[in-house]
Amino acid sequence: MGRVYLTGAGPGDIELLTIKALRVIKDADVIIYDRLANPEILEEAKSGCEFVYVGKEDGKHIVPQDDINEIIYQNALKHESVVRLKGGDPFVFGRGGEEAIYLLERGIKFDIIPGITSAISAPAYAGIPVTHRGVAVSFRVVTGHESPHKKESQIPWETFKTDDTIIFLMGLHNLPKISKKLIGIGKSSDCPCAVISKGTTKDQSVVVGTLENIVEIAKDVPTPALIVVGKVVELREQLKWFE
Ligand code: SAH
Repeated sequence: MGRVYLTGAGPGDIELLTIKALRVIKDADVIIYDRLANPEILEEAKSGCEFVYVGKEDGKHIVPQDDINEIIYQNALKHESVVRLKGGDPFVFGRGGEEAIYLLERGIKFDIIPGITSAISAPAYAGIPVTHRGVAVSFRVVTGHESPHKKESQIPWETFKTDDTIIFLMGLHNLPKISKKLIGIGKSSDCPCAVISKGTTKDQSVVVGTLENIVEIAKDVPTPALIVVGKVVELREQLKWFE
């Protein structure tokens, strides 16, 4: 029986991979990877390493999660070193916990290798610090896409009213609903808002507006993209460095 490394691939820029992730990738017998993991990383694997693509798109799973769990498990029965490579961090909306539980229940040993999450690094590459003295003492990372099978929203919208910085992942398609909800609970319609697409990659693009006009401004932005809401967005004016 092998060992599974539930590994964060970072947000896109290949140099944001951790040294630990790179070590297990170089040593892997098989790498099971997602759409959001930069495929250039696979070039680091040893010759003879197998690659299994289980790409997912914003909530629409090409391969259902149950099947992914089973694929990881079956590979762990056959190979010594299995890398499960996931975009960003495996535990930030990465379903890494579900995969770990599945392996645990079947007696497979695993390591968790955290990755640099897009939630913080894409704003950083856009010149937006998620906290900033005198501007934001906290940030919250929220799903912008709840499972369509849920009867009621688990998102506690009312509690967002006093949040400094709110970061929505998987939210681009729901941006009209998100901006409306935030204005509805009493956030100012002038509240600054940014949408960051393909953050940390050479194709990164950023648009900035307010809760009032961001839907119109971001209408042609490609995925993957995340949404940052809060006064910290204004710092981009001074701090943008990457594009
Ligand atoms: N585990 C990942 C997040 C998975 S959810 C992480 O820690 O980054 C997928 C969502 O992440 C996408 O819908 C998008 O909102 C966001 N995302 C991932 N990579 C991104 C990138 N390079 N730029 C902008 N958003 C990104």
